[in-house]
Amino acid sequence: MRIITLGTSHGNHTPGRFATSTLLEIGESCYMIDAGEPASGQMFRAGVPFKNLRAVFLTHMHDDHTSGLTALAKALHKYPTDGQHTDFYFAEEAAIAPFRAWLGAVHVKNEEGLVQYHTTHEGAVYKDENISVTAIPTRHMSGGEPSFAYLIEADGKRMLFTGDLSPDFSDFPQNVGHLDVCVCEGTHYRPEFSMPILQKADIGKLIFNHLHELWIGDGEDVFLQNFVSLPYLVLAAHDLESFSV
Ligand SMILES: [Zn+2]
Ligand SMILES: [Zn+2]
Repeated sequence: MRIITLGTSHGNHTPGRFATSTLLEIGESCYMIDAGEPASGQMFRAGVPFKNLRAVFLTHMHDDHTSGLTALAKALHKYPTDGQHTDFYFAEEAAIAPFRAWLGAVHVKNEEGLVQYHTTHEGAVYKDENISVTAIPTRHMSGGEPSFAYLIEADGKRMLFTGDLSPDFSDFPQNVGHLDVCVCEGTHYRPEFSMPILQKADIGKLIFNHLHELWIGDGEDVFLQNFVSLPYLVLAAHDLESFSV
């Protein structure tokens, strides 16, 4: 089982980083958390067949987490194989119909069955023979629209994908027990605000993605310096980096 960070930038592309998208690969199956542009292109570069994509979980509807979805839908429909099926989980139900209308407008096939559309809600949202997924509400959206972190349990391991958080970091999911891996955004809060909460968290490996422009290039070391006192491994992810779980 491995996590591949397809895109690790924050709201904008930066010279070395594309918008946020992360893949969890388990054998011949994979699952995407957020689909910032160019998620499908990065998946192609990572050598992961599109037919293997079982589900996409969007943490919220901001463009930098969803902009790759059109091209991904096209990739899934281009050369479908027998039994291929992908579930798309949108954070807001109202986004599904306009998205499907847009697929029609750009002449992407939109067949019921190959891709199925769902709305994420708090609690258990997805389960198959590989993983079970629980959505935990966060408070990232300034207008109060839904946003979620996803807790994914697979092969005896527990992984948390925070999505974007609020400026005071208080919505980082706490009381979720041991996490083998946490993939956490690194843009919307000052690192020192996160420390009291991260110090109490039971984490094996903390991987930051969605990195602010301040924290790229030489800034990466400055960012990581904030977390040296944490009693677990802390890393800053790059595009197309692979982490074994
Ligand atoms: Zn974002
Ligand atoms: Zn956002």
